[in-house]
Amino acid sequence: MTSSHDREKERAMDLAEDSRETEWTYPSFIEELFRGNFRWDLLHPFPEQSPEDKRAGDEYISKIRRVLEAYIDPCEVDRSGEIPEEAILALAEAGAFGLKIPREYGGLGMSQTNYNRIMEFVASYCTSTAVCLSAHQSIGVPQPLKLFGSEEQKKKYLPRLARGAISAFALTEPQVGSDPAKMRTKAELSEDGAYYILNGEKLWCTNGPCAEILVVMALTAPKIVKGKERPQVTAFIVESSEPGFEVVHRCSFMGIRGIANGLLRFNNVKVPAENIIGQPGQGLKIALTTLNTGRLTMPATAVAVGKMCMHFGQKWVNERVQWGAPIGKHQPVARMISEMAADTFAMDSVNILACEMVDQGGVDVRLEAAVAKYYCSETAWRIVDDFLQVRGGRGYETAESLGTRGEEPIPTERMLRDARIARIIEGTSEIMRLFIAREALDAHVRRIMPLMTGKGPRGQLLWDAVKFYARWYPKLWLPSAISLNLRHLSPRNQDHVLYVARTSRKLARTLFHTMAKYRQKLEREQLILQAFVDIGTDLFAMAASLSRAEYELKTHPGDENLQELVDLFCTNARRRIQDNFRKAKQHRGQAISRVADAFMEGKYRWMIDDVYTDFPPASRPARMTRPVELKRPESPEPPAEEHESPVANP
Ligand SMILES: Cc1cc2nc3c(=O)[nH]c(=O)nc-3n(C[C@H](O)[C@H](O)[C@H](O)COP(=O)(O)OP(=O)(O)OC[C@H]3O[C@@H](n4cnc5c(N)ncnc54)[C@H](O)[C@@H]3O)c2cc1C
Repeated sequence: MTSSHDREKERAMDLAEDSRETEWTYPSFIEELFRGNFRWDLLHPFPEQSPEDKRAGDEYISKIRRVLEAYIDPCEVDRSGEIPEEAILALAEAGAFGLKIPREYGGLGMSQTNYNRIMEFVASYCTSTAVCLSAHQSIGVPQPLKLFGSEEQKKKYLPRLARGAISAFALTEPQVGSDPAKMRTKAELSEDGAYYILNGEKLWCTNGPCAEILVVMALTAPKIVKGKERPQVTAFIVESSEPGFEVVHRCSFMGIRGIANGLLRFNNVKVPAENIIGQPGQGLKIALTTLNTGRLTMPATAVAVGKMCMHFGQKWVNERVQWGAPIGKHQPVARMISEMAADTFAMDSVNILACEMVDQGGVDVRLEAAVAKYYCSETAWRIVDDFLQVRGGRGYETAESLGTRGEEPIPTERMLRDARIARIIEGTSEIMRLFIAREALDAHVRRIMPLMTGKGPRGQLLWDAVKFYARWYPKLWLPSAISLNLRHLSPRNQDHVLYVARTSRKLARTLFHTMAKYRQKLEREQLILQAFVDIGTDLFAMAASLSRAEYELKTHPGDENLQELVDLFCTNARRRIQDNFRKAKQHRGQAISRVADAFMEGKYRWMIDDVYTDFPPASRPARMTRPVELKRPESPEPPAEEHESPVANP
């Protein structure tokens, strides 16, 4: 019997399925990799930014550098929780809110590569500022408008957005996070069909408290598809000046403290019917498509973290002498700093490749963008955690405190706090892995699932599947070298590339065998799927690094330091891959679930008897808006913060 939980899940899956992008001209490298088809030609030669595009990026970075230095003190942004109004205005003046908006609509029309270079630079200076700019144009109104908006909408909004009318992306709700298909915010069409009435709440909306224009996803009237009621999510352009729009609470966070982020409420907000982006019911597709490339800012900020750690780290590990030697000479520290360099090289390569794929156009980059986001945010976290460790006590001390007592004010703890969010926003790492697994299995699911579920003409389906697998499966056992011409690569890189090619076939085979074993139940075996995703991710990072290394070796032939860096990355990746093949074989799900179920039922509460748990509810008044109110001068001043005992607000 189907439970209501299963029906809910099926409904959400149907909706998510409808929301996938399908139109592409070129294949995805990663999708092919998971099928055992190592398409080295899609990554090699490593793409080179054109001189004109590079010049445009370089010039803009010099320009924004002057703005940042003149108007923003990153320590002060972190301390006060505000990006100064004059900084926002200066950034707007410099065109920073229109980087990705096409020139014909008043923006700077930057390529994705330049956009990411600029975001990397801004994030290295002040992550809060990078997140503000990115929430505005990577996922805020400009991006869905560019992809799905009508010409009238583009003409009406894009020039305003490019000039600095801040925008926000409102998808998450208090009850709906990773699973947006089940949102509750509703938009009801007025009787005369002229406008919609919007009601509901959106949580953690970055830029929400200071935005002039928001893209809001809301449920509209359901549709009946094949006899089943399908919820319809629709994307709306909403002006925050409309009566009924309310910033209920300005949220405060562990890191990126300068962002304006809040809980928003829509109380009967009137939205003109012409403010729908795309078609009614296309909202989730619009949101997910926006995020497909929108989440590429995360790799840029992650690369910034890696490079900053390398910059500060190099000086520190030489200067700091303990036990008679610079700490970089002690093996555990040497391991951390060498991996810092090798992993930053890999992140950088993945980031550049993913951006170049977007710029090329027509490439299916969903998987590359998701893997880049997942891989870089996880890797940056590991790097910055290691950097904090290498800095010892100074890593834990604030830059301000270090500076006050006369030491170099390296903001290690702020970098760590700022970096952590990347593993959560724009798709948590767990959801990214689910997404990647689903896309990786898609070719098989489409062929095999209808057979298992009895949907469709069985005879024809069976015949098609037999034909496909009879050709595909034997190829997975062929030696890799046959189809690859790698003679022009350095001998060590040839070996690494062959490993990637070989392992991609092993991955496809093992994935296929695992599917045959678990069938429909595989979807629930998330730990096994995670292991496969991590193998694919490491193979992609290896291939990207090797392609980049070959590119760099062309200009620095015989650079042994570079070769050793790549060797180190590849050796570590191979070890992780081996480990993940082992994990994919072990079936630990049931043992884990038994302990997790007991945990959920409170069977281990006896362990927590000795700690204090009686925290009262939060007692500080909420911060309602920015003290410097940029767009709505009539907003009230924020209430003064009361300083309660530290335990009162855990
Ligand atoms: C600083 C900040 C800025 C943000 N900015 C925006 C914004 O501008 N616009 C916007 O719309 N949202 C924004 N968000 C929301 C953000 O996108 C969500 O926090 C994120 O999608 C996760 O949702 P959640 O926090 O509700 O976690 P939940 O969905 O409740 O998940 C909690 C945990 O369970 C895991 N989990 C959930 N489902 C599964 C599953 N099926 N399988 C495995 N694991 C699972 C998650 O990975 C996570 O670890 C922001 C959040 C923060 C903190």
